[in-house]
Amino acid sequence: MYKDILLPTDGSEEAEAAINHAKELAEKFGSKIHIIHVVDITQGVGDPAFQSRLDEMKEFGEETAEEAAEQLGDIDVETHVTVGLPHQEIDEYVEENGIDMVVMGSHGRSGLNRFLLGSVTEKVLRTTSAPVLTVKREED
Ligand code: ATP
Ligand code: MN
Repeated sequence: MYKDILLPTDGSEEAEAAINHAKELAEKFGSKIHIIHVVDITQGVGDPAFQSRLDEMKEFGEETAEEAAEQLGDIDVETHVTVGLPHQEIDEYVEENGIDMVVMGSHGRSGLNRFLLGSVTEKVLRTTSAPVLTVKREED
């Protein structure tokens, strides 16, 4: 049923919490987890040091995806870092890779909790054909 789970991560606490839920599900269903980090292309626009900023963001993305993979132990995992608009890249990945479920944070790094959901999650919920599990940060 849930053979392929997509776990989009931006390195936030909410995305961290989503890792734990994806792990539980994967253990239960024997799923593969596809980790994706999208380097948000809009973040660097107009920056005179655009290229070096982009390289930095890619590096951050690689590290974030690797750290998530490490937390998944012996679950079957692949990691991807792409550049573009986060919600668009996530949707595209779902369609092209037969993803059965998306597990992602309710919020992310900008963490404006006055909104019900972060904008990436909201857009993914609106457009993707896969079911989406949204996860809140763990209370400390
Ligand atoms: P906003 O970005 O709208 O100001 P936010 O940062 O609080 O608010 P989102 O960006 O929507 O909220 O983040 C919600 C979830 O979406 C994250 O927990 C993560 O799972 C996913 N996400 C956000 N940005 C990315 C990204 N660049 N790459 C992969 N996943 C992302
Ligand atoms: Mn965000």
